[in-house]
Amino acid sequence: MNATTTSQTTPPTIKPLMVGGRILPMTRWGDPVMHASTRQVTEFNEGLHMLVRDMFATMRASEGVGLAATQVGVDLALFIFSCPDEDAHIRHGAVCNPVLSLPEGKDRRLDVAAEGCLSLPGAFHPLARPDRAVCTGVDPFGEPVTVIGTGLLARCLQHETDHLKGIVFGDRLPNRARRDLYKQHQSVAHRYPNEWPPTTKDPQLPTPGQQATM
Ligand SMILES: [Zn+2]
Repeated sequence: MNATTTSQTTPPTIKPLMVGGRILPMTRWGDPVMHASTRQVTEFNEGLHMLVRDMFATMRASEGVGLAATQVGVDLALFIFSCPDEDAHIRHGAVCNPVLSLPEGKDRRLDVAAEGCLSLPGAFHPLARPDRAVCTGVDPFGEPVTVIGTGLLARCLQHETDHLKGIVFGDRLPNRARRDLYKQHQSVAHRYPNEWPPTTKDPQLPTPGQQATM
């Protein structure tokens, strides 16, 4: 996302997990870990915290707004986000064992916007999703957490919880749209080698840009 945001909201417990970390290669669609359900997080130890740090480093390097553990090859029910809500506040967090609630009945309004996935970089397609989502779970310390998502954050919470069930957003598109998506990705795939995102700044290698990629 570009830097048009006015403020940031970060739970104090998450801040120490947003520094350091190693940039890991991004797992791609087609890798089995991306298409299977994940294991619940049961140990909230230093190993988990290192994984969260690595995920934040990887998400920053790829300029994403959200990242699921499966996208760095780990089959745990965990995702992180640094994503603007409808008021342009960047919200940061990490959720283990997420459970998503979406509005129903007259409260359910669909928002159609271009969506992209860091695991199929360089490809975007409009997708209708509810404009609000509430996600409950626990933070990386095992404490209960509730994230109320509006705007892009609502989309991000849905995209990431899908990942943890083995669903990629292409699964939610009609066949023809999915073919378009793969075609888009193929046309720029050479710019996203297996080592992407790069561990050092290389101006030759693009980031997905200013669209919503997660
Ligand atoms: Zn994704």
